[in-house]
Amino acid sequence: MMSTQRCYYEILGVVRTASPEELKKAYRKLALKHHPDRNPDNEEAVHLFKEASEAFEVLSDAEKRARYDRLGHAGVRGAAGGGAGFQDVNDIFGAFGDLFEGFGFQFGSGTGGARGSRRSGASRGESLQTKIRIDLTEAFNGCKRELRISRHEACDTCQGSGCKPGTSPVKCTTCGGHGQVIQSQGFFKFQTTCPACRGRGTVVKNSCPACNGQGRVLKEVTREISIPAGIDAGMQMCLRGEGEAGLNGGPRGDLFVDIDVKKHPLFQREGQDLMYRLPITFAQAALGAEIEIPTLKGPEILKIKPGTQPGEINRLRGQGMPDPRGGTGRPGDLLVEIQVEIPRKLSAEQEELLRKLADLDHKDVMPHSKSFFEKVKQFFSGQEETDEE
Ligand SMILES: [Zn+2]
Ligand SMILES: [Zn+2]
Repeated sequence: MMSTQRCYYEILGVVRTASPEELKKAYRKLALKHHPDRNPDNEEAVHLFKEASEAFEVLSDAEKRARYDRLGHAGVRGAAGGGAGFQDVNDIFGAFGDLFEGFGFQFGSGTGGARGSRRSGASRGESLQTKIRIDLTEAFNGCKRELRISRHEACDTCQGSGCKPGTSPVKCTTCGGHGQVIQSQGFFKFQTTCPACRGRGTVVKNSCPACNGQGRVLKEVTREISIPAGIDAGMQMCLRGEGEAGLNGGPRGDLFVDIDVKKHPLFQREGQDLMYRLPITFAQAALGAEIEIPTLKGPEILKIKPGTQPGEINRLRGQGMPDPRGGTGRPGDLLVEIQVEIPRKLSAEQEELLRKLADLDHKDVMPHSKSFFEKVKQFFSGQEETDEE
């Protein structure tokens, strides 16, 4: 029961003269926003989802819409099925599910197995999940992979009916073909899915020998998947309709593929940026250098400017990972952090030169060093002063 009823046009955020296309668009937007799969355990979202669905249910039907325009909510309340409100989210999937095809997530997942048309007993096939591991170069360039999955396919022998060829399903005697039975418990009566036919309304008397009356058989199939450039570990791809076959004409489930990316010995990924430490010598840092460095596209020349300090970062714009969504998405950057390596062993000649340098430093650089120690001294004496006060 709704305590307050908002205007259907207001709910969908459209004008009263909105075309059926505009209504559909507005509803689709709202339904996707408040979809229970996107808002787990969110009662408010479920309410908004139902509310939008009810508004669309009425306004998308020309006759009901005309009645609603003339008489308001009273005009559609209680009319056969119209504006009665949806009690169950699954009813909405049953009614409008086809509006959402290709929207990147599955309707009705996690809300129980009773989705789809209850009358025919058709049900959507289960979704499958698998995982693939690629390396960073493959993630950078995008790649194709062959997936081998074992899944249930409609049985060829009985075309999925589960009946021995030449026979057909018969009407279920338990429910009289309704798929639902009324059960009573004390004073209460309630409707439930027929246990004999599991809601199909029909039962198979002579089972198909190939599938044991299941209508599906397990098969191994291979599918090629195109992994977009820029994909990251932890992302998931969805192959629509590549899951288990549906039952009794229901749609196929989806195949979800979890992506794992191997650690690269050199590059670390941070978001869309790539990073690594480039070791250079003291002389290269001091004098500057042109060094050939690796990137995922191949070697590049990096200019090290004279006087480069350890820890300095050279940013190579656009040399990071591409945007996995493609299109106009900007690629990340490659960050090269400079690491100045101090040699662990010196040749006699190197030692001699360094000792010369040390002597020279002692004379020439002392004033600079002095100013550093001067600052340290000031820092301490400054503290002392404040202590004395
Ligand atoms: Zn069969
Ligand atoms: Zn039955």
